[in-house]
Amino acid sequence: MSILTQKTISKKISFTGIGIHTGKKVNLSVLPAAPNTGIVFKRVDIEKDNLIFPLYNNVSDTTLCTTISNESGVKVSTIEHLMGAFYGIGIDNALVEIDSQEVPIMDGSAKCFIESINNAGLNLSDQPIKIIKINRTIELNDGDKFISIGKSNVTGDIEFEIKYNNKIIGNKKNKINVFEDKLTEIYNSRTFCLYEDIEKLKNMNLGLGGSLENAVVIKENKILNIGGLRNKNEFVNHKILDCMGDLFLSGYKIIGSLKCSQGGHKLTNELLRKVFSNHLNYSLIEIKGKQLPHVFANYSNLKSTA
Ligand SMILES: [Zn+2]
Repeated sequence: MSILTQKTISKKISFTGIGIHTGKKVNLSVLPAAPNTGIVFKRVDIEKDNLIFPLYNNVSDTTLCTTISNESGVKVSTIEHLMGAFYGIGIDNALVEIDSQEVPIMDGSAKCFIESINNAGLNLSDQPIKIIKINRTIELNDGDKFISIGKSNVTGDIEFEIKYNNKIIGNKKNKINVFEDKLTEIYNSRTFCLYEDIEKLKNMNLGLGGSLENAVVIKENKILNIGGLRNKNEFVNHKILDCMGDLFLSGYKIIGSLKCSQGGHKLTNELLRKVFSNHLNYSLIEIKGKQLPHVFANYSNLKSTA
């Protein structure tokens, strides 16, 4: 038994909330799943063809959130904060039951998901975790936006930069190591939007559930939320949370060094599609027990199934 083996949640946990874009009430549960299942979403409000796999090639929309669909067109949207929580905390296998189209936004961050997962604890299997190692640098540009992923020996790091004309958001940069750092500030960082964009979003039928309860709103030189920011890098930290969630749509832990400037769901998805378009770009590794780098041992609240 090793903590470097696949993990699932020890018992069912449940959440109730609203979708930030649909504005609809939704119930979501995370249930334990067997080794090598991966993460599976199940639309329990639909009887047939209701399983959707959160994989990069099932992404059907990246407008302001990540939406996945199956072959029958059954969708789940805004999966990125929950997927980011799974990626950071090291959940390899789980069944996610949901009774609506959109994952509840909770407080706009992954805080509620992380606290609930930590309270439940994780179960270890005897199956080794699966890892992708990036073998060569892949990069993409989209106007001012840039993303790249290159080789790293044992770590998975993300360096992210945002550049906004708004003075409160401004230019911010942060770098984290997914497997070594304490990610509390990343998990706690909320989604954000400019006050002047709210009307545009509503006209696009998006952001219908958005409020100061689940998003940081910036109006000119002022943050409208009482209490202001949760941490000084909250804006860029939230983008890192999104990026972690979107990277988990590879289906694996990634050993590689990612850099992104002003990107988002679309660019991260295009990067994964490019990485997987050529098998020489990466290696699949199953690392067993003692051969694993110590950085993968950084999980808390682990409970053995033995
Ligand atoms: Zn987000």
